[in-house]
Formats: sequence, structure tokens, C-alpha cells
Amino acid sequence: MLNIRIEKTACPKAKPADESKLGFAKIFTDHMFVMDYAEGKGWHDARVVPYAPFALDPATAVLHYAQELFEGMKAYRTAEGKIQLFRPECNAQRFVDGCERMGIPPVPVEDFIDAVKALVKVDEEWVPHMDGTSLYIRPFVIATDVGLGVHASKNYIFCVIAAPSGAYYAEGINPVKIYVEDEYIRAAPGLTGAVKCGGNYAASIKAGELAEKKGYSQVLWLDGVEKKYVEEVGAMNIMFKIDGKIYTAACNGTVLPGVTRRSIIELCRDWGYEVIEGKLAIADIMQAGREGKLEEVWGTGTAAVVSPVKELTWKDESVQISGGKIGELTQKLYDTLTGIQWGKLPDTKGWIVAVD
Ligand SMILES: *Cc1c(COP(=O)(O)O)cnc(C)c1O
Repeated sequence: MLNIRIEKTACPKAKPADESKLGFAKIFTDHMFVMDYAEGKGWHDARVVPYAPFALDPATAVLHYAQELFEGMKAYRTAEGKIQLFRPECNAQRFVDGCERMGIPPVPVEDFIDAVKALVKVDEEWVPHMDGTSLYIRPFVIATDVGLGVHASKNYIFCVIAAPSGAYYAEGINPVKIYVEDEYIRAAPGLTGAVKCGGNYAASIKAGELAEKKGYSQVLWLDGVEKKYVEEVGAMNIMFKIDGKIYTAACNGTVLPGVTRRSIIELCRDWGYEVIEGKLAIADIMQAGREGKLEEVWGTGTAAVVSPVKELTWKDESVQISGGKIGELTQKLYDTLTGIQWGKLPDTKGWIVAVD
């Protein structure tokens, strides 16, 4: 058990009065979790302290070479007022794996979970109440050596912040149009596509903006070598229901292993669907679309849970999906996962962890 010092703020902020206007991660709670690392000393001085800026030397390593990593998860308030997390051990293990890839000393799984729980407990009243709202939790680690040499830092800060966030689908679930990105890539074998390091997202912003200008809400990323196989959509995993079977890219190093992806695969298999994790050519998906076999397409991620896709455009061709509506299975997955997360359905999978 991590020994965590708790220092509460003397001047708590006013909580947002109107939870229908929260938006996504715009305001933050009263506190943050912080823990330091120094070579020879390891992780130390775990504490929950008042939320405040860091003072960083302009030559701090992370500001230049982006040796850092983050996570994204949520705390949910049930109708009975209990606060709970969804599979936090998956996020914690992914953080360990990401640290390993980025040359960062890992934060042990138990310590990561203790840190998240401690912050959520202290800021419990910040977990919003309105249907579909949650407390978005952002653990991250940054390299804090001062100096401009390119090498692994000897000092780090691990921090957890949290933001009350509005219902993702406040205006109802609207299927989106997706642009298949044919020029820029997100990941390639040997690179960092499988981990949540900031550089991946910086590198993806331009393609996202270009797609948005053309009227699409996200890009679908193809593999970085042949630009033939589908990998992810925006910062979500993506799944295709073709002729009754479910297909998604395998997590072989270029795809982020999503907790939502993994949970949805388990649910689909429980329900008797065949789920194929492998290589899926965009040409075959477009062909299935032409033949009327592309039944449903959806993105998966913590923020949206599922994001139904109504149209895919690759080069000069577009295919329509599910008649522009959310598909039956997509809806069932959304209802089941959100039901478990907000405690409206029994947690038969052992996915829920109480914050107490
Ligand atoms: C976070 C993320 C996902 C989704 O992961 P979840 O654990 O389901 O939230 C998928 N792809 C990318 C690139 C991501 O950053």
C-alpha cells in the first residue's frame, strides 16, 4: 500500500453549478496526486496536494524530447451515490508497459491504482451526478531532468489530475463520417503506436484538422508500411461487423490496446459472435460496403464508449453504413458497457472497482 500524504486545499473552488455544460476536461478538481522519482531513490513522496501549476526549468527534458506518457480513465457515480472505476488495473498495466517503451521507470500497478483512488476519494464531491457525466482521470508521467542531452531522464514526476466531464452524447448518439487517411500515418512497426505517449497525438493533429476541413469528424489510420490495412480511428480503436462477424486490428505493436476494445471483444464473444483480431484491408471493407455486407462500424474508447460510423471515404469513394443510424449491436454494446460502468447493470465480469 502506497503511503500517501494528504494536504487539503484551504480554498476549495466552487463546483460547476450546471452539469449539463461541463464539456470535456475543461475544469479540474481541487487536488492532484504527485509522486517524484530520482535515480537511486526510486518513486517517493506520494502526496495529494492542492491543484497547482508546476514550475519547470525551460530546459526540462520533457519540454524538448517528449519523454512522457499518459492514461485516460473515468470515475462513475452510481444512482446510490457510490463512486466506482472501470478496470483500473488495465490502465495501470498499460502504463507500466508504456513506461517500459519510453525508457521511464514504471509506476507499480498497485501504486498507480492507489494514487487514482486517493485523488478520487479526496475530490469525491467533484464526481458529477447528472446522467452520463463522469470524472475524467488523467494520470501522466514527465521527464524532469534539466539539460538538452537526448537520453533517459534520471528524474520524473508522476501526477494524476481529474476533471468533471459532461455526458459525451448530451445531444444523442450521432453517427459520424470518417476519412480514410492516405498520406499521413500514425504508427509503424517498432515505433510507439501501442503506447499513450504525447508525441503520437502531436503527430496526428494535422491529418485530423485536414479531415475536419473536408467535413469529416475523424481520420481512419491505415498501417504505416503499406497503407493497406485499417488500424484505428482518431484516438479510438475501430471495429467492423461484416456479414455477421466482427473484425478489428490486432494489437501487434502499432495499435493502442484499448480497455474498451478489450471489454467489447469479451462481450461480443460472450454473446456468441466470432471476433477476428487481425489484418483487415481497407479495400475489402469498401468491397463489403458495395455488396451491402458492411453492417456496422464503430470506434471504441473510454471517452465515447462507442462511436458509430455512418460513412467511410477512401480515395474517391464513399460507402454508407447502417443507413446513417447507430447499428443494433453498437447500441447493445453501448447500453451494456455504460450500464455496467454507471452501476445500472450487474457487474457480472468483475470489471468494477469501488473507490472507498
Ligand atoms: C486511448 C486510446 C484508445 C482507446 O483506449 P481505451 O482504453 O479504450 O480508452 C484507442 N486508440 C488510441 C490511439 C488511444 O490513445
